Amino acid sequence: MNLAVFPGTFDPITNGHVDIAQRAARIFDEVIVAVYARPNKNIIFSTEQRTHIARESLSHIPNIRVDTFDSLIVDYARKIGAKTMIRGLRVIADFEHEFQMNLMNRNLAPDIETVFLMTSQEYYYLSSSLVREVALLGGDITGLVPPVVAAALQARVDNLSDQERSSIKIVSLHE
Ligand code: ADP
Repeated sequence: MNLAVFPGTFDPITNGHVDIAQRAARIFDEVIVAVYARPNKNIIFSTEQRTHIARESLSHIPNIRVDTFDSLIVDYARKIGAKTMIRGLRVIADFEHEFQMNLMNRNLAPDIETVFLMTSQEYYYLSSSLVREVALLGGDITGLVPPVVAAALQARVDNLSDQERSSIKIVSLHE
């Protein structure tokens, strides 16, 4: 069986991720969407929430499974028997970051190859961080994320503590 793993933070999963996962599922027998449990970033959803939301968002695709990992991705890939990793590419800035990670991963595990799928035009600008920001500031994210994600974001916004609300980072206004 030709198994591929699509790792990421998925905080939360967006239609851009769903598009990549769906396209990968046409190439491979099975795709494991692997949610990273210890991201080095500010996240708004717990690992359990990110995993649950991703699972719901992808449940219509029979050969996709969602799992969680907290090790090196190459170790996780080896553990589940995946020889291929999937990553998505959008803007040019992605390339530099992905290039660096890919060289490191190949250094660690020359037996695991990464396949990069280019974003679809309509998702070129779409990122989890931008979706989070727009949602947390009350903007409309319809069409950018699956309905289950929009509902989860709304619930998260409704339950923000005052401290969380005042510390929302406005990513797009950074230099
Ligand atoms: P990570 O922290 O590993 O970058 P993300 O959840 O941000 O996790 O992204 C996971 C993967 O999905 C990355 O390869 C990223 O480039 C890709 N990706 C994110 N958004 C899009 C999009 N709109 N179109 C295509 N690929 C995307």
